[in-house]
Amino acid sequence: MSFNIGVVGTGYVGIVSGTSFAATGNNVLCVDIDKEKVEKMKEGISPIYEPGLEHLMQQNINQKRLNFTTDLNEAINHADIMFLCLPTPPGEGGAADLQYVLKVANDIADYIKSNNITDRKIIVNKSTVPVGTAEKVKSIFTSKLGENNNLEVVSNPEFLREGFAVEDAMKPERVVIGTSADWVVEKMDKLYKPFLRSGNPIHFMDEKSAEVTKYAANSFLAVKISFMNDLARYTEAVGADIDLIRKGIGSDTRIGKRFLFPGIGYGGSCFPKDVQALDYSADEAGTPLRIIKAAGEVNKSQILFFFDKIMKRYNYNLKGKKFALWGLAFKPNTDDTREAPAFVLIEKLLEAGATINTFDPEAMKNTKEIFGDRINFTDDMYSCLVGADSLLIATEWNEFRTPEFDKLKEELSENLIFDGRNLWEPNEMKELGFEYHCIGR
Ligand code: NAD
Repeated sequence: MSFNIGVVGTGYVGIVSGTSFAATGNNVLCVDIDKEKVEKMKEGISPIYEPGLEHLMQQNINQKRLNFTTDLNEAINHADIMFLCLPTPPGEGGAADLQYVLKVANDIADYIKSNNITDRKIIVNKSTVPVGTAEKVKSIFTSKLGENNNLEVVSNPEFLREGFAVEDAMKPERVVIGTSADWVVEKMDKLYKPFLRSGNPIHFMDEKSAEVTKYAANSFLAVKISFMNDLARYTEAVGADIDLIRKGIGSDTRIGKRFLFPGIGYGGSCFPKDVQALDYSADEAGTPLRIIKAAGEVNKSQILFFFDKIMKRYNYNLKGKKFALWGLAFKPNTDDTREAPAFVLIEKLLEAGATINTFDPEAMKNTKEIFGDRINFTDDMYSCLVGADSLLIATEWNEFRTPEFDKLKEELSENLIFDGRNLWEPNEMKELGFEYHCIGR
């Protein structure tokens, strides 16, 4: 049985979820307020860089299972199940700002009321939202439509990773559904079954637990990263090698190999804001989460720790220095630059009087929108080096891993590299004739 699905908000989560629901045979109508984006999507152009997405969009648009509109009401009429994939940016004091979610909830209730719509609909929160949001959305529906309204509010947090979003949406490691209604359990189970054929679980729970699960997952991963970054400063001070320690602890399955890479800190549209929002919510509840707080603090200072390495090497004077910066996206395989550590680095370098050439395989457009002509944009990783004193690495794109080192030597006036992602071996770099600064080694 296929479903009529509405997806409100076609950012990273919405467009990927909408496309994957269409790919399993459902009829999907995606809504966004951004007209230009909607026009492009209608033509099969993806609004974001995400491997495999555009092809899958086009297949489903051709089959007429994936459609786009700017009209929310059209989606309300169309959908049995409506997914809210709206932004929840940081608001005052770090709390998640729910204005987008609550506005759409109000708009849905108003339209249903004024058009006397009586069909049962499931309204699913896929945005990352603080505990109690399902309750808030429900109370909007009850206040406008009465106790016995036909809308059921569900919390279904999204766990996809940018860069692997299509793969994650098509084969999620788990699906979490927060609901207290049996008929909803049955529907959501049917909807997600095609994605879970390899046996991965679907966890049904109450709405609040589902909401917290999402924050707990992101915050736990952030803690892992910050733990390693903090430890890297210590290993650097005592002459140990963080990379050997990473391997040494990672082969313990209780710890696991992933998310143990030290670097210049996590970024993106999720970890920083989700850590802050959980921290805020816990403080508000009178149960501060000290480890989460520390993870956020370590992360903020990690890029400054890297910047200080550069400053120290240049005797705290960067005036007239020119840097080549490889990597702008907050991580590889995405064009997303939200909260990218590279951006903090750029600001610090400019403030100190340096000039910067930059290159990123996908994130140049988003970076140009922020920095305009304050920095130079180059066509490829080698032209980025022209006239530079040293090379800085901020994102571990695959193509940076095995460069032609001779070209680096030809262009860099000082054979000097500051690698914020530990791409290479310090001994090998020394043999190649580079002065190589990295993290925790
Ligand atoms: P995004 O900012 O990329 O996209 C949000 C979209 O919503 C935009 O296209 C915007 O135009 C649209 N929008 C805003 N108001 C609207 C309205 N009233 N009607 C219709 N469209 C509207 O956001 P995102 O990265 O997709 O994240 C969405 C939510 O999912 C957030 O809560 C985020 O924390 C969570 N999340 C994100 C990721 C990720 O990797 N990006 C992963 C898991 C969860």
